[in-house]
Amino acid sequence: MTLYKDQSEFIPYGKQNITEDDISAVVKVLNSPFLTQGKEVPNFEREISREVNSSFSVAVNSATSALHISCMSLGLTNGDILWTSPITFVASANCGRFCNAEVDFIDIDLSTGLISIPLLREKLVLAKLKNRLPKILVLVHLTGSSCNMEEISKLSKEYNFSIIEDASHALGGSYKNNPVGCCQFSDITVFSFHPVKIITTGEGGIATTNNPDLFKRMTQFRSHGIVRDKDEFQFLTNVPWGYEQQTLGFNYRMNDLQAALGLSQLKRLKKIVRERNKLAMYYKENLPEDKVSLLRVPDEVICSYHLAVIRLKDSTASKHEHLFKFLRKNKIGVQLHYLPVHLHPYFREMGFKEGDYPNAEIYAKSAISLPLYPGLETIQQEYVVKKVTEGLEKI
Ligand SMILES: *Cc1c(COP(=O)(O)O)cnc(C)c1O
Repeated sequence: MTLYKDQSEFIPYGKQNITEDDISAVVKVLNSPFLTQGKEVPNFEREISREVNSSFSVAVNSATSALHISCMSLGLTNGDILWTSPITFVASANCGRFCNAEVDFIDIDLSTGLISIPLLREKLVLAKLKNRLPKILVLVHLTGSSCNMEEISKLSKEYNFSIIEDASHALGGSYKNNPVGCCQFSDITVFSFHPVKIITTGEGGIATTNNPDLFKRMTQFRSHGIVRDKDEFQFLTNVPWGYEQQTLGFNYRMNDLQAALGLSQLKRLKKIVRERNKLAMYYKENLPEDKVSLLRVPDEVICSYHLAVIRLKDSTASKHEHLFKFLRKNKIGVQLHYLPVHLHPYFREMGFKEGDYPNAEIYAKSAISLPLYPGLETIQQEYVVKKVTEGLEKI
C-alpha cells in the first residue's frame, strides 16, 4: 500500500475541477464581441434544460439570486410565510426574507438529513387550524439526495403551497429515474454553480421550470424588470430602440464567460457524478461502520454527492468538536454542513432558539463533511480514513 506522504498539503472538503477545454472555452468568449448578453447564456440555458428535462431555464449570477426571483415570480410578499429545512445554507431561508415574508422551518429526518415528511404533515395540520399555511416550501436536496417529491407534491395540492427545489447540491442526481430539475413535482428548481458545487461557472445559478408564466416573470426580474419582446409592450409602439421596464427587477444576469465555462463543464456532468459516487462509496466501505455512517440515500434516489457527510454514532458536542479539531490539525479540511439556520444570530433575533428543531441540532453535533471532489486521489482518501479512524479512537 502506498502511503499518503505529502501531509503538508491541505485537503479541502471540496474544490473546482478545471480542464484545458474549460479554459479554451472562456478564452474564446474573451476574444469574441460579447462578454455578456451574447449567445453563450441562452446556449447554457438550453443545455441545462436538455440535461434536466425542463421546458425552461433562467441563468443568473448565483443560486441565491435564482431563489430570490423564484420567490418573487411565485408572488411571495409581506404577510406570506415560507418554510424550509434548518439544515441548509442560509440562502434557502433568506430568499423568503428578501420578499419580506416570514420564515419557518420543518425539522429533518436524522438518517437522511432531508426534511421529515411526518413532521411536515404534522406542521401543516396545525398551520391550517391557525390559518398560517406557507405560500412556498423550499426543499433542500442535501448532499445531492432528492427529497421525497411525490409525497410532498401530494401535500402541496392538499394545502395549496408552491414548491421550490433548492437543488444547489443535486445537479446530475435523479428521483424515480427522472433528473432533478425536471420539475415534475415542483414549480421551480434551483441549481448553484459556485466552485465547490457539482459544476461551476465561478459564481452562478439557474432556475428551471415548466411553467411559461413563471419563466417569463423570472426572466424579467433577472434584468431590471425590463421587457424586450415587442408583442409584450404596454405603451411603446413598434420603434427600433424599444424596451420597457414593466416591474421592479434586478441585475442578476450571468455573463457569457460564466456560461461558456458552465457549458464546457456540463459536458462532463455524468463523469463527475460517477466519480463523486465512487469516492463516496470508498468512505462508506472503509470507515468503521460501528462508529460512523454516511447519510442514508433513499432507494428511489441517485445522489450526485456534492458532499460526503458522515455522522458519528453516540456523538456529543464535545466529541464532535474534538474530532473536528483533530482532523483540521492533520490538514483535512472537514466542514459542518450546516449550522442549523435558526441558530444564526439573525434568526435568533426573530425569536428562534435552541431546542426548536431537535433533530437538526443533534445532526449539527454529529455531522462532518469529508473531502470529496473529482481528482481526489485514493491515497488521499486512505489518509482521510486513517485519520478519522485514529481520531475516533481518541475521543
Ligand atoms: C451553495 C448553496 C446556495 C447558494 O448558492 P450560491 O450560488 O452561492 O448563491 C443555496 N442553497 C444551498 C443548499 C447551497 O448549498
